[in-house]
Amino acid sequence: DATPNDLEPFWMPFSANRQFKASPRLLVAAQGMYYTSHDNRRILDGTAGLWCCNAGHGHPKIVEAIQTQAAQLDYAPTFQMGHPKAFELAGRLANTMAGDLNHVFFTNSGSESVDTALKIALAYHRARGEGTRTRLIGREKGYHGVGFGGISVGGLGNNRKQFGGLLTGVDHLPHFHNPEHNAFSRGLPEWGAHLADDLEKLVALHDASTIAAVIVEPMVGSAGVIMPPKGYLERLRTLCTKHGILLIFDEVITGFGRLGAPFAVDFFAVEPDLVTTAKGLNSGAVPMGAVFAQDKIYDAIVNAAPPGAIELFHGYTYSAHPLACAAALAALDVYQGEGLFQRAAELAPYWEDAVHALKGLPHVIDLRNLGLVAGIELAAIDGNPGARGYSAFVRAYEAGLLVRVTGDIIALSPPLIVEKDQIDTMFAILADIIRTLD
Ligand code: PMP
Repeated sequence: DATPNDLEPFWMPFSANRQFKASPRLLVAAQGMYYTSHDNRRILDGTAGLWCCNAGHGHPKIVEAIQTQAAQLDYAPTFQMGHPKAFELAGRLANTMAGDLNHVFFTNSGSESVDTALKIALAYHRARGEGTRTRLIGREKGYHGVGFGGISVGGLGNNRKQFGGLLTGVDHLPHFHNPEHNAFSRGLPEWGAHLADDLEKLVALHDASTIAAVIVEPMVGSAGVIMPPKGYLERLRTLCTKHGILLIFDEVITGFGRLGAPFAVDFFAVEPDLVTTAKGLNSGAVPMGAVFAQDKIYDAIVNAAPPGAIELFHGYTYSAHPLACAAALAALDVYQGEGLFQRAAELAPYWEDAVHALKGLPHVIDLRNLGLVAGIELAAIDGNPGARGYSAFVRAYEAGLLVRVTGDIIALSPPLIVEKDQIDTMFAILADIIRTLD
């Protein structure tokens, strides 16, 4: 089996003359729950692409919307003008999102959404005469994309170590996963909510008047699918409110039905001040992200600001790109028309049982699930962390199943259209593979 030293799959930046070291994995087509590989095999999509194709691949309504839009209006600048679908989409999104999160800033990716939300947080405090609030707080093991801000608040060592200097004035709350307490928890683990209280230590250290925002993934995705302990997010919300600190949910993965509710905001019934999204927003069809802001924030930085002020810090050439908006409107129609968020909620117990049926297989040291997400943690091979996980990925692909691995953790997050027999197939393939791993 390949070892991490032979890792070839991280091809970016792409280059025409770059050679594949091992057997190539090229995806050439996709429909519904399946990719087609270059050697004409059907690959069951266990990861919705990269946590994004929530409506499955090539949904006819989304395809048609993009084609029609491309023929009608390919591009429109959004400075001092707009196009109707941008406004229609902003309205639809505000209606889909709970609470006061009624305003949308369009971006082109999750990373841009994160950087935008961090800037909005600072601008908000400044607009209210609290310009000393500039410190940002993330979490160990947090992943918030690859923008400068996102890497700074992110808590993954590998993302950070290549940079001598990142944003200053950033702290990280402790990671809440503790295998001693949380291993094999179904859904949300019971242990660990108190770790949110570490925010009090940072407030004592720096003074609340210097802290702008706390950013968290409501469910840790990229670091290996780790669920927040019961009550953790609620406690964080209470403490942020107490100290006038904005709370940002990074819902790039959890948004648009992944947990069996429209957003983690609904799932946890906790309303942050800002929410970052991307991925499922248009089912991965065209790059797009969106930041949701509460009324009070919009009022402070847009309504009460001098004309044009917002354009000084927000606005990408491709913000609210017509193709992305058309795809998003169609995706929302599909989510709603086919009841996909509800469907994810209904499938979640079946999914949970399928995940936890892997207990007892060799190497399996933890199993985690929430909504239609799973993390299967394998014991690392001594002195070769990541090798076992990578072998599982390679073998799954060869057996016709696409999974994502981070280190020795296998992550699953299928399109929300997944059928029960496809869930059975996924876990049967994985069980076979895990049994025979070195
Ligand atoms: N935040 C979270 C929580 C993510 O999972 C990701 C991507 N996996 C990002 C931000 C970055 O999104 P993008 O890759 O679209 O920039």
